[in-house]
Amino acid sequence: MKTLTPEDKAFLLDSIRDVKDFPKPGIVFKDISTLLKDPKAFGFLMDHLKERYEEREIDFIAGIDSRGFIFGSALADRLKKGFVPIRKHGKLPYTTIGEKYALEYGFDEIEIHIDAFKCDKEKPKVLLIDDLIATGGTANAAANLIDKSGAECIEACFVINLTFLRGDEELKKITPVYSVLEID
Ligand code: AMP
Repeated sequence: MKTLTPEDKAFLLDSIRDVKDFPKPGIVFKDISTLLKDPKAFGFLMDHLKERYEEREIDFIAGIDSRGFIFGSALADRLKKGFVPIRKHGKLPYTTIGEKYALEYGFDEIEIHIDAFKCDKEKPKVLLIDDLIATGGTANAAANLIDKSGAECIEACFVINLTFLRGDEELKKITPVYSVLEID
């Protein structure tokens, strides 16, 4: 499996736009829309993820609402695996199971359909994917939800890890974590 060189990483990082003070003052928003509209960068990233995961035993790829859907479904199609959306509360039409997680003020909840990972295996293997891990609250809840559903999260994969927030520390206790780009 090819590990990315510093030049590869710089190429991908350069394709992502920083938007200061969005959605509120003090936040530097990592805008991956500029990566997506660049076929060379998007293709390079997806080739890398395909190479990383094509030899792994995976039954489903689960993407987190909403940018995890973009990378997750593109990868699922390349690997010929099923894709499962992990959605914000109230969006899924069928019976759901959910997992709450704390925000700065209050809480949020993510959900999957109760039969999302149903297949011929007793404990299906799931790759979790999102565009970015910040505090890790969303990803931790997603990994717990996969566990609660009876499936196994084999790895959590992120395009960007804001490592200075140490969001992956708790997550690593539940599942291996892979980040294509680390920003500290
Ligand atoms: P967290 O639960 O704090 O790890 O936040 C992760 C989620 O929020 C991901 O779905 C990201 O898409 C989004 N997010 C958080 N911080 C940023 C940021 N600085 N730039 C872009 N997206 C972010």
